[in-house]
Amino acid sequence: MNSKSQRAPPTPIARRDFLNGMACVAGTALMPEALAASLEHGPDAAAEEYFLSRGIAPTDPAYYPPALTGMRGSHPGSFEVAHALRDGARWDAPGALTDLDEHYDLAIVGGGISGLSAAHFFRKLHGANAKILVLDNHDDFGGHAKRNELSGAGSTRIACGGTLMIEELQLYTPEAMGLLRELGIDIRRFDRYYDRDFRKAHGLKSACFFERSAFGVDRLCPQQTDSVYLPDAHFDPKEIRAFIADAPLAPQARDDLRRLYFSRVDLLPGKTRAEKVELLKHISIQTFLEQYARVHPDVVKYYWQSTNGWLGLGIDAAAALDNLWFLPPAVTAGLGLEAEARGDLADQPYIYHFPDGNASIARLLVRRLVPGAAPGSTMEDIVTARMNYAALDAAGSPVRIRLNSTAVRVRHIGDPATASSVAVSYVSNGKGHRVRADRVILACWNMVIPYLCPEMSSAQRQALAYGVKVPLVYTNVLLRNWSALKNLGVGTVYCPTSYFSEVDLDYPVSIGNYHYPSSPEQPCVLRLERVPCKPGLPAKAQYRAGRAELFTTPFATFEHQVRDQLGRMFGAGGFDAQQDILGITVNRWPHGYAYSYSTLFDPEWPEGQAPHILGRQRFGRIAIANADSGAEAETSIAIAEALRACRELERV
Ligand SMILES: Cc1cc2nc3c(=O)[nH]c(=O)nc-3n(C[C@H](O)[C@H](O)[C@H](O)COP(=O)(O)OP(=O)(O)OC[C@H]3O[C@@H](n4cnc5c(N)ncnc54)[C@H](O)[C@@H]3O)c2cc1C
Repeated sequence: MNSKSQRAPPTPIARRDFLNGMACVAGTALMPEALAASLEHGPDAAAEEYFLSRGIAPTDPAYYPPALTGMRGSHPGSFEVAHALRDGARWDAPGALTDLDEHYDLAIVGGGISGLSAAHFFRKLHGANAKILVLDNHDDFGGHAKRNELSGAGSTRIACGGTLMIEELQLYTPEAMGLLRELGIDIRRFDRYYDRDFRKAHGLKSACFFERSAFGVDRLCPQQTDSVYLPDAHFDPKEIRAFIADAPLAPQARDDLRRLYFSRVDLLPGKTRAEKVELLKHISIQTFLEQYARVHPDVVKYYWQSTNGWLGLGIDAAAALDNLWFLPPAVTAGLGLEAEARGDLADQPYIYHFPDGNASIARLLVRRLVPGAAPGSTMEDIVTARMNYAALDAAGSPVRIRLNSTAVRVRHIGDPATASSVAVSYVSNGKGHRVRADRVILACWNMVIPYLCPEMSSAQRQALAYGVKVPLVYTNVLLRNWSALKNLGVGTVYCPTSYFSEVDLDYPVSIGNYHYPSSPEQPCVLRLERVPCKPGLPAKAQYRAGRAELFTTPFATFEHQVRDQLGRMFGAGGFDAQQDILGITVNRWPHGYAYSYSTLFDPEWPEGQAPHILGRQRFGRIAIANADSGAEAETSIAIAEALRACRELERV
């Protein structure tokens, strides 16, 4: 990512994952009993086919995707049509599409936060009676902002299946922040809802898990007391020294690590500030460590996956200047580049978290857009509100959200310059349909758009195809209790070389009727993060190879890795994978973060000429939203781009 929400952690901890805690529903069952019972027996590899195999349609009250475990995110059934389109399938033949008698003021492709925000802004501009259709290929709305519910041992925990946080507040435009406020979100209330004392009270530190294939031994080494901020202020030299002494590293590597932490040496002596900046833009963190800091190979291994969660890339492909903040503050201080390394990092606590992450924003939007979609009226009651999926696509509703529907063609009826409407074709449950709309917003993914609108200029199509989305996986594991972590005194673990690079207790947030499990005997969710990068390749090649890996990795492999890694990390604290794991949800995002430019791999574009800007130009009655069109994987950007797209359509 180009922007950063945190200041440099003194130890490598991935993006969005600095903090931890618990989450639970105090005795609230959020799903139908039968479904809960069927899922309570643990991970069900076939759960993704649950609705399909039982013929449960979205109009059925039993339809409740958040409760599914197994393979989620881009789940089976969500991507096949789009991949067929990419591979040349067309639905042009006579009879391939049924023309529905539906005409909308606005059709939106993509039911993520950008698409839902576009519906919201369009209604503000055109009134609440504007007729809007939102299409999404997944079985649930929200795009990356998805909710998981995991049940076991008598309770249901809410977890985040993708977009984690309201973060980097400085990136929110006044309108984007205004949208949050209109939805009832007062971010100051997280000061009360997020238990900042939780980890300290339980003695939970951040830690590093050194594993035997890379470091000769499996060892969990506590690093530092966790904090909602991770700036230098919380960097305790005593804790760091003890950590280094305990780490299974070669003696020389220990010395080198101490040197990085404690001596403010200029590692680029003899260079001017400008020369340093120029050099660091074009070398990786790995190269910086090896060739300029000249550290022992064990130190490179130690930092190996530190940038994974932030960039979707390891340190081999992380541009040094933008990512210096992953190294100890003394390094940047020694270089005299604190300001450059800080970039636009803001001093904000990492606490603006609903139990399901930004899925709550999506749910608040849907509640506002669709009458009867959910009870309640506040940011507190949305957390435990059960969405009524049957209401989403009701015939009488001005806004209709149609899930399990992949758009395959978006074409002006007539010349784009003069047409008065657009035909939108989509495939749902194996059948093709067509609706019409006065205007269209493509709030889907940039790389899909050239297939939907092949009549766009080739320059625009090329620009849209420039970025490659970042693959990553958030796995939520329901544990019977978190006693083992309490016994070991750890709450968040960075794993430099393991399958999952990050393992965290869920965040200690209680909102409304929802309470995190404050006692170690209570069930809790562990978050595990995997980034399938392929070190050594250029960024885009890594993303493509990682995506291929994700599409071919079965749930059973993730399950095996979860059990193996957690057993090795927490076994000494009494953890028993057989007994303690109650459920697993793998949120697989082969097309995850929006592509952001890197000084290592992308040119510096002249003003206004970057591909995301050329690609997002309005095409007749079709405008383009989505975080890709802002080249930043941020909710703030997804919202801002939605407003831009709505405003562009005012001109047609
Ligand atoms: C794992 C993960 C964690 C993240 N964490 C954060 C975070 O903590 N904070 C933050 O601000 N941002 C975060 N992000 C970035 C996040 O992507 C944005 O915040 C935002 O949710 C993007 O919204 P969007 O609507 O632009 O895109 P998406 O959420 O991707 O929604 C687009 C939707 O369009 C659908 N679509 C695509 N093609 C078609 C088609 N042909 N027909 C129908 N539908 C289609 C997609 O399947 C998707 O559902 C995270 C992203 C990921 C992947």
